[in-house]
Amino acid sequence: MGTSPAVLAIHSLTEAQLVVWAKRCGRCGNGPLAPETGAIEPSAAGPILALPVTCRSCGEVTVLRFAGIDPKAGDPRLARFVTLEESPVPPAPPVNPTGEPSRAIDVAGWLTLEAMLGEKARQLRAWASGTADRGAAREWELLAGTCVEEALKFYDPDNDLPPEEAFFDEFARRQLRDRPESFTRERLIHLRTQRPIETQARKREDP
Ligand SMILES: [Zn+2]
Repeated sequence: MGTSPAVLAIHSLTEAQLVVWAKRCGRCGNGPLAPETGAIEPSAAGPILALPVTCRSCGEVTVLRFAGIDPKAGDPRLARFVTLEESPVPPAPPVNPTGEPSRAIDVAGWLTLEAMLGEKARQLRAWASGTADRGAAREWELLAGTCVEEALKFYDPDNDLPPEEAFFDEFARRQLRDRPESFTRERLIHLRTQRPIETQARKREDP
């Protein structure tokens, strides 16, 4: 059975797209996962977007389910989900306009995404033939920076490493055990300085 019953709470369809890129195949552990057109499943808590994805490595089909979709964001069935390789420009911000950490992607997932998107930008710059390519590279770098900000939302103020709850599965917890130095807040703050900051005013939730 490739169908996962877990419903992932998301803050935006962009966050759902990032889930598809961050997830590994449940059968072979590889990917990428190629999304198809989503369907709506009604539920007591609101509509759920059911998105079938096919593993390009082994062919396993899984249905990812997303809840918390903003009705103002339009019909999610019309949203075009793609693999990272097939996406010429990044999905539109915001990913998560709230101060709360993601419930769909854990701290290890955000750091994996940061590396994937940074690599995409690096390749675009290496092959850039004009300002359009360089502009796209900068857009990917902006999103990579947002991924670091999402990772930082998991940290407590008085701890240099993220709490246990910031890791959603054993694969992620093993990454922390194997490479704790990758998860220090100091490293993330340094990583953030390596990426551009959006110039437009960002909405912040003040305590
Ligand atoms: Zn697979």
